[in-house]
Amino acid sequence: MANALDTQTIDEYERRRLLTLRQLNLLDTPPSESFDRITRIASELFNLPIAAVSLTDEDRQWFKSRVGVDHWEIPRFKACFGEVADSSQVLVLPDLLESPHYCNSPLAKSGIRFYAGAPLRTYDGYTLGAMCVLGSEPRSVTEHEINVLQDLAAMVMAQIELQHAFGRLDPLTGLYNSSKFLEDLEDRARDRAGASCFALYIELIDIAEMYSLQRVLGPACLDEVAREAAMRLQLQLGVATVLYQVGPGQYVLILDSTERCLNDCEALDRALHLRQLLLSMPLGDAAPFMLHPVVGVAPFRLGEIAPVDVLRIAHSACQSARDSEAGVSLFSSSLDEQHLRRFALISGFRHALEDTGQLQLVYQPRVSLITDDCVGVEALVRWEHPVLGAIFPDEFIPLVENTPMIRSLTDWVLRHAIDQAGIWYRRGLVLRVSINISAANLAESDFTARLKTYLAEQALPVVGLELELTESALIGNTRTAVEALDVLVEAGIRIAIDDFGTGYSSLAYLQEVPADVIKIDRSFVAQIDHEVRSQTLIKAMISMAHDLDYHVVAEGVETPESYQMLQALGCDEAQGYWMARPMTVEAFDDWLAARHENCP
Ligand code: C2E
Ligand code: CA
Ligand code: CA
Repeated sequence: MANALDTQTIDEYERRRLLTLRQLNLLDTPPSESFDRITRIASELFNLPIAAVSLTDEDRQWFKSRVGVDHWEIPRFKACFGEVADSSQVLVLPDLLESPHYCNSPLAKSGIRFYAGAPLRTYDGYTLGAMCVLGSEPRSVTEHEINVLQDLAAMVMAQIELQHAFGRLDPLTGLYNSSKFLEDLEDRARDRAGASCFALYIELIDIAEMYSLQRVLGPACLDEVAREAAMRLQLQLGVATVLYQVGPGQYVLILDSTERCLNDCEALDRALHLRQLLLSMPLGDAAPFMLHPVVGVAPFRLGEIAPVDVLRIAHSACQSARDSEAGVSLFSSSLDEQHLRRFALISGFRHALEDTGQLQLVYQPRVSLITDDCVGVEALVRWEHPVLGAIFPDEFIPLVENTPMIRSLTDWVLRHAIDQAGIWYRRGLVLRVSINISAANLAESDFTARLKTYLAEQALPVVGLELELTESALIGNTRTAVEALDVLVEAGIRIAIDDFGTGYSSLAYLQEVPADVIKIDRSFVAQIDHEVRSQTLIKAMISMAHDLDYHVVAEGVETPESYQMLQALGCDEAQGYWMARPMTVEAFDDWLAARHENCP
């Protein structure tokens, strides 16, 4: 770019020059003392009434700083300042009236006779304007004065570049930050659209590990290491490759694979090499911990993906690298799609909670194995996403459970299921409605109180309700969970242990957890009609549960043979596709009516 004029047309140079000028965000900004100081010195050193920092815009000269000039701008046409920008040379006009080009210029007509201007050049070779001095008398300049004017111009440029770097430099490492990365990538895309590149995302230490280190060693514990790592990486990469600091202990760089003929394997090789470099870095006494550097590699084409997305996919590759043995990983679009889908689901769920149309409850019957009667239903939530369609709870519940939204979801389910239970109760149906709740719900201080209010609103007896909790929810946080359960049990609410047999290796917790029902997970029940081992296992589970006074429900009953076998084994209730799938209220009412007709 420095020799722009040699290789490009003047028009192209001017286009790029204007772009550079605009990107610096200087035009039409208020005066600033840091520039005015230089202008005042210029005026005094030259003993001239007028001095200015003039920027050459498309069709005007705009003064960032001025002494002795009233206007902020003058037309570019035939203003000497513009000639400096065009030629990138120092321009001295001892007497404007003697110059055939400027003798009739507006400047000369306004009484200016003398002009000297030095170009304001960026480091990559674009002249933004001029540092200039003007006088109303003809005057000559010495070689020394020209040098002084050039020095002042250099001071102005240093000031401009310093201001521009502010907010784009990381103060700790001196590296450019992510804002600068995004700007630079946009510039590259403009220059070399379509070129194929790799973004390498380097992370020194897992973010969660870093936070726990900071708790122990203080927030600055990584600073020295991050600085040293940045220095080593930059020395290895050389000055031609810019290293950006995009987060604490996180660096990004771009490898241009067109210039360096890199393929995926070679880019991964580079990543491995950089990782090795960081692994071999001595940490010193001030850092009593280990680094676990990883590098994500994301291939992309300039201009075909937004700079923020380049950063995002490189970060995604870096997270995959954390899970890989080699500590480096190539970006995978299918993994990314999964992440994007998860993100879309989490962010969309908030709307689902507000918009009553998206969530719905379906009910799956529970049948007594003694009387064959339907004695209850399990309420199961369904979500119809406006764009992604039907989303099953196995996909979205685990995501929602990691957010505070699980509280609102359970509240929504409780309200709707209890309202429905109220309707059935008033119709004279004896049905216990079972509701799935999550571990986080047990931590809600007003949970039981709210539950009681909802039951009271429907005048529904407490026995009309059962809460299902998985083993892991019960075990994860035993003391608080058990305390919360005690409160529920005291209120007379029945508790079922869901997915029994899948979550925990020791059964000791059964002594502590105040539950009434055990729901044997469907993975055991699925094989019962053809596998002796399953039968033995279920037989043992039922007998142990009965010994401990639990009521036993088998889930996932899919065949009549399984149903009969469970009956023979003394299981109390069954739930499963063989009796019925989860249904809407209307479908459930029809199913129940048909069942009564068949076995009155
Ligand atoms: P879960 O509590 O074990 O619910 C039973 C799941 O097994 C339901 O899946 C049901 O459709 C399915 N199922 C029932 N009978 C059979 C069968 O015979 N064979 C097979 N293969 N599957 C059967 P669903 O509705 O997709 O729910 C999946 C899980 O999502 C539930 O497992 C529960 O953990 C969670 N979930 C559903 N609704 C809620 C809710 O309202 N709140 C919370 N916290 N979790 C819910
Ligand atoms: Ca359940
Ligand atoms: Ca279950």
